Amino acid sequence: MRRAQDLIESSSRILILTHKNPDGDAVGSMLGLAHALTDNGKNVQCFSKDAVPSYFHFLPEVSIIKNQIPWKKYDLIILLDCALFKRTGIEDINEIIADYDKLLILDHHPKTETQCDTVRNCIDIIDCKTSSTAVLVYNLLKEMDISISKNIANCLLTGIFTDTGGFQHNNTDPQSLQAAAEFMKKGSRIEKISKNIFSNKNMAAIRLWGLALSRIRSDDHTGMAVSYVSQKDMEDLGTKEEDLAGLVNVINTISDSKFSLLLTESNDHKIKGSLRSEEYKGIDVSRIARSLGGGGHKLASGFEISGSIKESAEKIRKALLEIKKCDK
Ligand code: 5GP
Ligand code: MN
Repeated sequence: MRRAQDLIESSSRILILTHKNPDGDAVGSMLGLAHALTDNGKNVQCFSKDAVPSYFHFLPEVSIIKNQIPWKKYDLIILLDCALFKRTGIEDINEIIADYDKLLILDHHPKTETQCDTVRNCIDIIDCKTSSTAVLVYNLLKEMDISISKNIANCLLTGIFTDTGGFQHNNTDPQSLQAAAEFMKKGSRIEKISKNIFSNKNMAAIRLWGLALSRIRSDDHTGMAVSYVSQKDMEDLGTKEEDLAGLVNVINTISDSKFSLLLTESNDHKIKGSLRSEEYKGIDVSRIARSLGGGGHKLASGFEISGSIKESAEKIRKALLEIKKCDK
């Protein structure tokens, strides 16, 4: 954290990046850190390849997150909630940015590879025991003696709240609750964050959930509960991909399944898979995600594959068989 502080203090033009399909932790950590660094005289730009879902638009100054990178040269790039440039959706950063001096990574996903393996002048703080990247940002701000404004508190509390599933997942720990308590003292309200993110559905979205729930199948071999949503389903009901946020967690409430999977067809002919499980089920879904080119946490992970839903289902079936074979 001290070395991270040095990197930041010796930089003035800073670019903050996060992963594609940004979730509450990605958006909240990015905005919280951007507000803190801007308050402290830094020139900060934020980039997200994919649009920020509308249920995060209540966050302060969310419009500073752009889907273009305005400058060619940065003193420091900060990568949040992921450890590789590839996860930002930017295949080759050098094609977009001519030069940057330093790289700082804050992430809480299990470390497989990190950009520090290939970039000089890089520091990575990767702690998969931390509930969220927002907590790592909070620790960094503490280390830097930066005071937490209500805006910063709202952003970081959103990160913790969403990555702990509303303080319900097994990653909810004293550290996260202590940070949340401090954010509340700064004026942040959990019920307001919760209402904005979770109680925002329209009728069409609920109908789409109903359709996906009515399609759930369980697979006796693997213990998987699986459903899917196609582009046509979304078009027919006038809904968007972001209306599906949280649905896989509902599928995951089936107690006699081992893990759950929701497949979503995106408009660029890719299939996004979201995997969830629970500690007591004894499954590490990140193994499945990794075997399909994705990644994530033991109990919440994801992947993306090209092809139709039918073709993806076949690839997934093969991947699961392979994992089963290895376990024997
Ligand atoms: P979700 O299912 O909510 O999109 O993602 C669950 C978790 O898995 C998040 O921590 C997310 O960052 C991670 N994840 C989702 N998709 C991918 C992917 O394609 N690659 C990697 N490495 N991680 C992913
Ligand atoms: Mn996260």
